[in-house]
Amino acid sequence: MKRYLGLDLGGTKIKAAVIESAHPPVVVHTASTPTRASEGPAAVVERMVRLGRDLTDEVGPLDGLGAGVPGLFDFDTGVVTFFTNLPGAWEGFPLRAKLADGLKVPATLINDARAFTLAEATLGAGRGCTTVACITLGTGVGGGLFINGELHFGAFGIAGELGHQTVQPDGPVCGCGNAGCMEALTRASAIAAAAGRATIEEVLAGADEGDAACRAALADAATYFGIGLANIVTTVGAERIVIGGGVATAGDALLGLIRRAVQDRVTLVPPDQVEIVAAELGTGAGAIGAALAAIESPTKDRRFLAGDFKSAQLRRGEITDS
Ligand SMILES: [Zn+2]
Repeated sequence: MKRYLGLDLGGTKIKAAVIESAHPPVVVHTASTPTRASEGPAAVVERMVRLGRDLTDEVGPLDGLGAGVPGLFDFDTGVVTFFTNLPGAWEGFPLRAKLADGLKVPATLINDARAFTLAEATLGAGRGCTTVACITLGTGVGGGLFINGELHFGAFGIAGELGHQTVQPDGPVCGCGNAGCMEALTRASAIAAAAGRATIEEVLAGADEGDAACRAALADAATYFGIGLANIVTTVGAERIVIGGGVATAGDALLGLIRRAVQDRVTLVPPDQVEIVAAELGTGAGAIGAALAAIESPTKDRRFLAGDFKSAQLRRGEITDS
């Protein structure tokens, strides 16, 4: 039996999970601590290491660790390239080496949305399926693809960015630069703005009370989700779509709307055989997935765990046409 630590570096909390390798792996402990990102990378890593040591004291020595991170990193060096929504001078920070040094075990990094996907597809709401698409709805729209029993990264390492499919020609410009991405139309702030409310929670409450603008905003969002998710079902043959994140778990009504919107657009696969379900592992999914990545990485091409390594190289100007 081997034991792995997963750390999920989020904007407000660092979450941790310890799993023991078995078939299937077993989650034996979880914990969390505030990120306090404003104190900078060195202080944040110190808290990650301390959290890991506290868990080691509880459960015993580790064989490896995985860290789910909110952005891009260099797979060769484990150095951060770009983190979204996390303040501080992270660019160029040797995160993997600092974690490995601090906890004296081999360390692996994985993009956080891919960590969520790995956890839900294998131990959560997607378990038992061979092909699963996972999506998180919240501040952004993250995702991942689990195809034929494996996390899928594609030739460029970015496969699974489900939120960045175009679902509306000439739609609003997305943070990625494209117009009409699913994320630009369905992230929490976009739904709130469409309803004329401050937050997605207000929209969900308003829809519950029968407010027409709130209901229309949710119906429109569900239509765009439906277009994007039906594309996934048709192209990769996903038998189950797992939806997580604050927006999804806050409202069964939205999940129902999305389910109908997908079924309306799936014509080549029996629509009643495609399940659209809520995530099961809760807010700990990212940490669990990061621990699973630590088990998996020795047998995989680790660069793909970066999730976006070629984009990262493009950003740094390292890829040329020569
Ligand atoms: Zn986009």
